[in-house]
Amino acid sequence: MKILANDGIDPIGKTILENAGFTVDTNHIPQAELADRLNEYDAITVRSATKVRKELIDACPNIKAIGRGGVGMDNIDVEYARSKGIAVVNTPAASSHSVAELVFAHLLTGVRFLHDSNRKMPVDGNVNFAALKKQYAAGVELKGKTLGVVGFGRIGRETAKIALGMGMDVVYYDLFEGPKALTLDFSGNVTVDIPVKQVELNDLFAVSDFISLHVPFLDKPAIGKEEFALLKDGVGLVNASRGGVIDELELINALNSGKVAFAGLDVFDDEPTPRVDLLKHPKVSLTPHIGAATNEAQERIGEELAQLLIDNLKK
Ligand code: NAD
Repeated sequence: MKILANDGIDPIGKTILENAGFTVDTNHIPQAELADRLNEYDAITVRSATKVRKELIDACPNIKAIGRGGVGMDNIDVEYARSKGIAVVNTPAASSHSVAELVFAHLLTGVRFLHDSNRKMPVDGNVNFAALKKQYAAGVELKGKTLGVVGFGRIGRETAKIALGMGMDVVYYDLFEGPKALTLDFSGNVTVDIPVKQVELNDLFAVSDFISLHVPFLDKPAIGKEEFALLKDGVGLVNASRGGVIDELELINALNSGKVAFAGLDVFDDEPTPRVDLLKHPKVSLTPHIGAATNEAQERIGEELAQLLIDNLKK
């Protein structure tokens, strides 16, 4: 059987599939040519780039499985594929810890102005060293502060664990009832249960020094004009979930007014062309949707995807 890994696959995943007797093609076929060429394969794996829509599925009746390396399946017509008997699988948990660590990269960046100093120091060099040193003098510690986590699923919980490990308090909001404590694993087989508190969204806004968003794409932003008014003055925000979860225009207003001290953004309304005033804003720390982009996450994604495809194709 032949598998097209159209958006790539970690070498570990490729090896697992090849050891199981599959041929894996990692050459990328452009979207426009897929309908003509995909039928040579038995399965396709994608990340977020390749779209597997109804028309492509109809054009390629040989396809028996579609694998998504990662979480969101918005680029696949999942229900339609399943109605045609095609297995559709993804690897939702493999990147959670990597995304959570990126959230803390943004938080630590925000509280110590790394985003701004990394932009300015190469330009100003020694000339404004003292001025910049003064400008960045009022950093704050995360320890002892409250992190509000909106969406307490896989990534929200991983983020909360890191926060607890750093001595932060955690409150969270989720549509469903969640845990009252999280178990932290330390080296030497030491585990500790630490309380977390589920609250209403407005209460989270009122008490949080920092807020991290971990909900799926929603019909309306979780933080829009009305919600910004409810946040603590000087709050720090991180969005590593989906563009549109924060209203970007309102965010810029809130950054300019000082309501929001800084924002860390990994995702944007318009990817790959985010709005320029956001990209250039001195209070915004930016990454180009790289939450899952660690070697460890890619290995886990590759391994899990390979195993899921084997399980489904060898049934
Ligand atoms: P998950 O499904 O495990 O968790 C989402 C949580 O949000 C669930 O607990 C759900 O009950 C809750 N929820 C859903 N709608 C809600 C709402 N309206 N209000 C409050 N809570 C709500 O998902 P996850 O794996 O933790 O992923 C979270 C987000 O991170 C998703 O948007 C995903 O696409 C994104 N993500 C980003 C990257 C990246 O590279 N930045 C990587 C992976 C995932």
